[in-house]
Amino acid sequence: MAVKTIVILGGGVGGIVVANELRRLVHPEHRIVLIEKNSQHAFAPSFLWLMIGDRQAEEISRHVQQLVHKGVELLHGEVRGIDLAARRVETSAGSVTYDFLVVALGAELAPDSIPGLAESAQTFYTFDGADKLRGALRDFSGGKLAIVVAGLPFKCPAAPYEGAMLIADLFQRRGLRDKVDLHLFTPEPLPMPVAGPELGSAVRKTVEDRRIAFHPLQKLTGVNPATRTISFEGKEPVAYDLLIAVPPHRSPRVVREAGLANQGGWVPVDSATLATRDENVYAIGDITAIPLPGRWKSDVPLMLPKAGVFAHAQALVVARRIADRIAGKASPHNFSGEGYCMLEAGEHLAGFASGHFLAEPSPQIKLRQIGRSWHIGKVLFEKWWLAPPGAKKESLRLLIELGAKALRVPAAIG
Ligand SMILES: Cc1cc2nc3c(=O)[nH]c(=O)nc-3n(C[C@H](O)[C@H](O)[C@H](O)COP(=O)(O)OP(=O)(O)OC[C@H]3O[C@@H](n4cnc5c(N)ncnc54)[C@H](O)[C@@H]3O)c2cc1C
Repeated sequence: MAVKTIVILGGGVGGIVVANELRRLVHPEHRIVLIEKNSQHAFAPSFLWLMIGDRQAEEISRHVQQLVHKGVELLHGEVRGIDLAARRVETSAGSVTYDFLVVALGAELAPDSIPGLAESAQTFYTFDGADKLRGALRDFSGGKLAIVVAGLPFKCPAAPYEGAMLIADLFQRRGLRDKVDLHLFTPEPLPMPVAGPELGSAVRKTVEDRRIAFHPLQKLTGVNPATRTISFEGKEPVAYDLLIAVPPHRSPRVVREAGLANQGGWVPVDSATLATRDENVYAIGDITAIPLPGRWKSDVPLMLPKAGVFAHAQALVVARRIADRIAGKASPHNFSGEGYCMLEAGEHLAGFASGHFLAEPSPQIKLRQIGRSWHIGKVLFEKWWLAPPGAKKESLRLLIELGAKALRVPAAIG
């Protein structure tokens, strides 16, 4: 048997899933090498709960090694170069050659790309940022709080809205809601434009019902920390007391330098197979650019949102396709574009948006009524994700029983 080496770049959501699924599927002789620069992995959806004090930092992070199957070689190092011709990856811990490469390096945050933003704004888009913001929110006793989406695209299209609603709920619980003037600024025309105007209007209403002023079509140009004002293209400066930003996103430099990226910096892939233009190289998750049927302005194509739910589904497809290729079989596994999102609304309630993002002529997404069950679903997923791979099945069973008990429904799991 010819031994193959599969190298996975990035041990985040997509990288961990692809490594574990491949280890389950291919003969133990084949090497699976996962390269990750951080030793800890934090579960990003829980950053919102960390920010409002519903989680402690240690509850939502694990050593990457704890999340990968035995038999996955975890290489702790920074990817510094990808030589597609030589099929070699250069890292801070040495170089590795590959037969198959999976690029799952995610999106980086670039607060420095907007003047004044890095030094003025807090964020719940990083683990450390959410932990720090929790202190700032605790010390905030009133004034104008502005949440600003600094650029497009950004990961998890629901997160700024969830963050705003959880912050509104936090101040409500502390009896300070009337003293906090809460605003959300975004370059989008509506929340989650990819999901269509009906869903966007429903989310906008949910946000406004919580007395959060929604300001669409605001393109951030700069922040002045001295005057504590934010500037938007073609608008008068806006004053703030506390500024929270979703920083601009960009792809890691190493991907752009390798020639894998398009003009926008993201990696174009086949939307069904996740293959790049280069033989034996796949890309998944936030790093990819996948156009969808339909447009959100007459000239701007809709793109698949950057979300863990898609990174996860794509990782399973790529692992199965690589396993089939090693076995010399045609692979039936394709990415379908189905996805969902639990939208936290405060008071332990959440909405649920789900549907088919690759549907023709445009994505078909529905929003279910806000309720406690979606919130519980999100908590259950968090516990499942952070469980070690060997304990996942058992923890899922226990969690579903627990959830069913809370919801007073039968625990239906085969
Ligand atoms: C606040 C917040 C809430 C969210 N909520 C949700 C949600 O409810 N549902 C949902 O579906 N999605 C959610 N997301 C989005 C989700 O976290 C991402 O879409 C998902 O993590 C993408 O997976 P990925 O594997 O593409 O990238 P990542 O998970 O970001 O992993 C990329 C990995 O690559 C590593 N890396 C980068 N560069 C290098 C390098 N040069 N060398 C070595 N390693 C490197 C990084 O350290 C990282 O571990 C949320 C995100 C945030 C910020």
